[in-house]
This record gives sequence, C-alpha cells and structure tokens, in this order.
Amino acid sequence: CFCQLHGKIDDCTCNVDTVDHFNNVKIYPRLRSLLHKGYFRFYKVNLRRPCPFWSDDSRCAIRYCHVETCEEEDIPVGLKGSLLSSPTKNQNSDLHVTQSCKDDHNTELGYLNTTISAKVQEDIVLWSAYDDAQDNFCAIEDNDNESEYVDLLLNPERYTGYRGESAHRIWRSIYMENCFRNTKSDNPYIHSSKLNNMCLEERAFYRAISGLHTSINIHLCAQYLLADGLTEPNGKWGPNLNEFQNRFSKENTHGEGPHWLRNLYFVYLLELRALNKAARYLSKEEFYTGNESEDWDTQLAVVDLLNVVKKFPDHFNESSMFTGSDQAEKLKYEFKQHFRNVSKIMDCVGCDKCKLWGKLQIQGLGTALKILFSGKFDESSDLTSLDKRKFQLQRSEIVSLVNSIGRLSTSIYELDEFRQMLR
Ligand code: FAD
Repeated sequence: CFCQLHGKIDDCTCNVDTVDHFNNVKIYPRLRSLLHKGYFRFYKVNLRRPCPFWSDDSRCAIRYCHVETCEEEDIPVGLKGSLLSSPTKNQNSDLHVTQSCKDDHNTELGYLNTTISAKVQEDIVLWSAYDDAQDNFCAIEDNDNESEYVDLLLNPERYTGYRGESAHRIWRSIYMENCFRNTKSDNPYIHSSKLNNMCLEERAFYRAISGLHTSINIHLCAQYLLADGLTEPNGKWGPNLNEFQNRFSKENTHGEGPHWLRNLYFVYLLELRALNKAARYLSKEEFYTGNESEDWDTQLAVVDLLNVVKKFPDHFNESSMFTGSDQAEKLKYEFKQHFRNVSKIMDCVGCDKCKLWGKLQIQGLGTALKILFSGKFDESSDLTSLDKRKFQLQRSEIVSLVNSIGRLSTSIYELDEFRQMLR
C-alpha cells in the first residue's frame, strides 16, 4: 500500500514504525486529553488582518469556513485582559517598574531617581522584548487590538470545501518562500528526486511545510463532510477513504504522495524535538487560567507528557543546521525572513476556519524553530537565563506549539486508521 511507509524518516535517524507506535500509544492519548484543558483550548488570534500581498482577497462565503466566536463568560477568568500569568508572577515581574520613594529624604531628587530608574527599567524591558522578537519566526498577535479568543474545541479542523485558485495561490506562495533558491520558477513544487541537490536547511524548510500541508489534507479526509446540514443538523463528519487515496496515492500524485506522507513524520519529529528542548522551561510554567485545580492538573499533565517525550530516543537533530560555514548566520537570517513571510501569507487565506488553523500551526512551527535555533534553550544555557526575567515564551506561542503537535500527532493516528481501512 502506498501509505504503508517503512524505514528511516528522511533527514532523521528513526524509523516510521517506531514513530507510529510511540505516537499512537503514548503521545496521542495524552495530547488529546491535555488539549481539552482551558489553557490550551482558547487561542487569541486576529482573523481580520488585511492580506499584505494581494488585494483581491475575497472573503469566503462557504458555510463550513465560519468560525464560532466564544462568549465572554466562557473565557477563563485568568486569560481575560492582559493578565497572562498568575498574580504572584505579575507582582514579581520586570514589568512592574514603579517604585516606592517613601525613604527618600529629598523628595525632588527621589522623584528624579525614581523616574530615571523606572525609565531605565522600562528600556531594559523594551530592549529585551526587542531582542526576543529577533528570535521570532512569526509576528505575535497576542496584544493586537483586533485579536479575539477562539475556542478551538468549538471549531475543529476539518473539511471546509476551501479549494480552487484561492487555496492553490496560498500553497504556491508558501512553497515559493522555500528559501535560498536563486531562481524562482512558476512551479514552486519540488519533486522529491531533486531534494538531494539542496542544502540541509532548504530541505528542512521544504519538508516542514510539506509535512504541514500533508497534515491539513489528512484532517480534511479524516473529518470529511459525509452528509451536509440539510440532512443532518450540523453535518455528518467522518473518514473518506476515496478522498485520501485521491490525494496521496502514487498514481494520482506522480509518485509523490508517499514522500508527502513521510514529510508529516519529519515535521512531527522536528516539533517534538522543540518540545523536548523546552522541557526545563515548560515544566516551570504555571499554565494559569484562574481555575486553581484545573491549572494544577494541566501542570501535571504537561510534566507527564514531557517525561514521555524525553524517553523517545531519536528526535530531529537540529545541531547540524546553520553550522559549519561563514554563511551559516546569513542562512539562518534568510530562513527566518522567509518563514516570517509564510506567516504573513496566512492573512491571505480565504476561509476563516482554514486561516485559524493555518495561523495556529504556522505559529506553532515558528515557535518550534525559535526554540531550536535561538540558542536560549540549548543544554549549555543556564536555567536562570530561561527565567521569566530574561526570556519568555508568550502564552500564544506555548498554546500554538502544543496544539500544532496535537494536530500532527492526530494526523499520524488518522493515517494509521486509513491504513487499516485499506487493509
Ligand atoms: P492542494 O492541497 O491545494 O495542493 C496544491 C498542490 O500542492 C498539489 O497540486 C500538489 O502539486 C502539491 N501538494 C499537495 N500536497 C502536498 C504536500 N503534502 N507536499 C508538497 N506538495 C504538495 N481545506 C479544508 O477542507 N479544511 C481545512 O482546514 C483547510 N485548511 C487549509 C489551510 C491552508 C493554510 C490552506 C492554504 C488550505 C487549506 N485547505 C483546507 C485547503 C486544502 O489544503 C486544499 O488546498 C484543497 O482541498 C484543494 O486541494 P488540491 O487537491 O487541489 O491540492
């Protein structure tokens, strides 16, 4: 069967079968339950940003592209407003720049000192935010005025009917960003036989995007519209084996389908590696939503997940990327710029539901790349430098990373179900 994959995953050292077993038995069930927790369920996103690349971004009228917004009272109290972490953390935070000057004898000078030191501290905060932003692979929309919370459980990723030139233009533009190619052709899709001529970084970029593309398309096959809302109140959703075969069989894809499926494993290992690398940081996170008992459960569930991830032998090995030549830093810079463009292309997706999940998954992948390549999570880095004072992953980065891994993990699980159906 075209979807029965064996052997090593390209540019990684572990086997497809090992990943299947590990994911389906250990990771998938844990993530499924974790992603129901309030902290991971609500994602703040701006779906109304104008497309920066072309003007005829037609708003989509497809019924299944609609995104359900959530009621104010549904949003956990700790996520509302600007309260992003627990009150205790906020009190200790660097952002708390005002000082008491009651001990100053010279009130005027005291005032001056206070304002200067407040200004210096404020500058430090702004500069460290600026420094952190240099590590970002995507723009963060958390504090954007137009961003709104979306309940991800109310808006599952599934078949929407979004297709045709609008969808193709997005995919084409994304693959065009595949870095470092001097000649941009009209056909940005790469044949797998050409991959070996590329440098590792370029291959990794392509495989990550292609793996994400595979994951999105597997979801729409596994959660296909089997009967519409006219016959079933909210539509009937389930697997469509024909759709899956049409999209991934060798015959229908000039032999590329199985390679695209393998890329799913590649991006999964890449993101899992990032999760493992950020484990020390994440195990200290409070996952604050204001619901004390659920927050505690979330912390335990995350630590349990991290312990399982740690035991998996061969994640993606990022240490061979962006090293070894004078050009390495330049290459990394370019890689980042191209990836940022991909994140901007998401504003041009003409189906809100697809845009929601597209943005979340690109941000999740961007967060993974930031963890892998900023140097701040390296083994050698002192844990205190991962302290909130000096470095911070925003809540939306954590939510998008874990949800993205959840999506990829679900795709690997659903792929196995298709295999069984084909058997
Ligand atoms: P497409 O999937 O549009 O692919 C275009 C071309 O890319 C193909 O002709 C092929 O040459 C190449 N290609 C295909 N797969 C791969 C791969 N894995 N790796 C490398 N190259 C590949 N639809 C939904 O129903 N639900 C969704 O939630 C959804 N989310 C989307 C999110 C985004 C960001 C985008 C851009 C699209 C989304 N879509 C969604 C649409 C969906 O991905 C397809 O574009 C659509 O179903 C049309 O499919 P297609 O067969 O024409 O080929």
